[in-house]
Amino acid sequence: MRKTIVFYFIFQSFFLHSQIRCASDHYMSSLFQINNLYKNSQRNVNKEIVQWTSNNNQKESINIITIPVVVHVIWEDNTDENISDMQILSQIEILNKDFRRTNIDVINTPSVWNSIAADCEIEFCLASVDPYGNATSGINRVKTSVSTFNLIGDKMKSTNEGGTDPWPINDYLNIWVCDLSGGILGYATSPSNFLSSGDGVVVSYKHFGDNGTVEPPYHKGRTTTHEVGHYLGLKHLWGDSNCGDDQINDTPTQQGENNDCPGFPHNQNSCGTQNLNGDMFMNYMDYVNDFCMNMFTQDQKTRMVASINLYRNNFLTQTICNSSTSIINSTNKQNKKLIRIIDILGRKQSYEKKNTINLYIFDDGTVEKKIKIN
Ligand SMILES: [Zn+2]
Repeated sequence: MRKTIVFYFIFQSFFLHSQIRCASDHYMSSLFQINNLYKNSQRNVNKEIVQWTSNNNQKESINIITIPVVVHVIWEDNTDENISDMQILSQIEILNKDFRRTNIDVINTPSVWNSIAADCEIEFCLASVDPYGNATSGINRVKTSVSTFNLIGDKMKSTNEGGTDPWPINDYLNIWVCDLSGGILGYATSPSNFLSSGDGVVVSYKHFGDNGTVEPPYHKGRTTTHEVGHYLGLKHLWGDSNCGDDQINDTPTQQGENNDCPGFPHNQNSCGTQNLNGDMFMNYMDYVNDFCMNMFTQDQKTRMVASINLYRNNFLTQTICNSSTSIINSTNKQNKKLIRIIDILGRKQSYEKKNTINLYIFDDGTVEKKIKIN
């Protein structure tokens, strides 16, 4: 019996530590090895962003950028991988709150960084139009016979390999949600003048949204917030090396990743410089637990907006977010109860606004998209 218990704890411990918070750096390195064009275009990114930023005064910008999202749910029979619409919508809502700084845990940002914590003025919607011009829910469900996926081979991004091909990468943020092997929570591609054919974000179905199949401590949708940060050009705070450079001026230099949820201040003066505030571990681009993260900075916002203008500029003029209405996954179940009405950006609506597209969420996990006309 004792042996069993000891083995159980060793196994549990191995399992917990075998989780990989983010595999983006590893993934990008593997892409560079097979594609010189990608590698060379990434080398110019920092220079191009500095140039763009010096030519464009961010403070004058008042436009909100809205990014159309398609969520590809890749699921195998007899599993819980086919996550509900409600779980998917919760992730869109979290992205909008985190990128607009309307998340309730902003109160946990240390006061020393309140003045640089950013409303990034970037929003996300589930696409209303598919690549063929048809109405869509922005959710693409694909049944597969592949039990787990890995970043090697990227099979979730290929219809021929048990996943699904991306929707046009210049027009949509493609997010694949699937069973990732090796304890990987997620990974993303970074933007440059050359976008890879698998451009987008991959997230484990166990860490997408904040309900349904999510598992703590990564159960508040921050894996996707972090990966979309990479997708929009952000690096980890430690620049992926010991006291490295993340190309962001207003984040302190830090030695390496932080895990769990440290107390503030943490790791003061760790990189041989005077740094009484220590690491900005609560930044979305660190590795702490989901409930411990709560901010992007102004300079991170600038880099993301620059990246969109330089490399993802179809998002600046898109009409995919609001050009039609359709019913999502409507069932004939009579006794389902309406539990919440939200707008297409995931914001809760206290009453039914007329002539506006709203999403009606029911207690059985279904969602209907409706527009009420006068
Ligand atoms: Zn990362």
